[in-house]
Amino acid sequence: MRIPIVGGNWKMNTTRAEALPLLVALRDGLDGFDGAEVVVMPPAPWLGDAANVLEEDSAVHIGVQNVHWEPRGAFTGEQSAAMLVGTAEYALVGHSERRHVFGESDADVNRKLRSILDAGLRPILAVGETEAERDTGATYEVLRRQLEGAFAGFTDLPTTIVIAYEPVWAIGTGRTATPEAAQEACAAVRSMVAERFGAEAASALRIQYGGSVTADNIAALAVQPDIDGALVGGASLNPEAFIAICRAIAQARHA
Ligand code: PEP
Repeated sequence: MRIPIVGGNWKMNTTRAEALPLLVALRDGLDGFDGAEVVVMPPAPWLGDAANVLEEDSAVHIGVQNVHWEPRGAFTGEQSAAMLVGTAEYALVGHSERRHVFGESDADVNRKLRSILDAGLRPILAVGETEAERDTGATYEVLRRQLEGAFAGFTDLPTTIVIAYEPVWAIGTGRTATPEAAQEACAAVRSMVAERFGAEAASALRIQYGGSVTADNIAALAVQPDIDGALVGGASLNPEAFIAICRAIAQARHA
């Protein structure tokens, strides 16, 4: 039985004055919640505040949106996974904005993934096709390339990894994938992982769907057999919406 996992990626949003009440609302609104694992990913400047607000027994875990692949050094403006130990538990890697806005390659994703694992953080690896790739029937080829690139040189699937299937055309656009299309792609990711690392590792792997998830559309996505939660961008900035998404995901699993 896979425990669903919900991530809230705030991206480069919130002032400190906005972030603090949002963190408190999540902590209080999800007090005692155990229907899914919840990870909030605030901007890096608010990670210390997040750690203060979300004490150890909070149901809300902390993730970081990006890391550099080196543990330390002359990389002005960057933060390493090693530096986040003790503050964050999870680290996002391969997000489409990192790939498409900042030009990160599959090789970069591989290096970052290794650094996250070396530091003992839990990676959330995002993969997904663009609209043009989907339109030309290249979705599975792209997913395979991204997975092969991310896992280059790996002999085993890291046990702590979560994969987020996030079609680029659905991120921040309001155009959510249909539950059937999302299920099909998540099932394809699982079978690619099975081919590479074996059926047992693949069946234990948690795969999130991400792309314009809202409190209104999550239920139909969350009941799909290969979808184990969601990675949420825009709606994670609204605590009521995000908490409703967490509860709907828990509900779907108990249905
Ligand atoms: C994301 O940033 O990973 C994301 C899925 O964003 P949104 O929910 O806004 O589409």
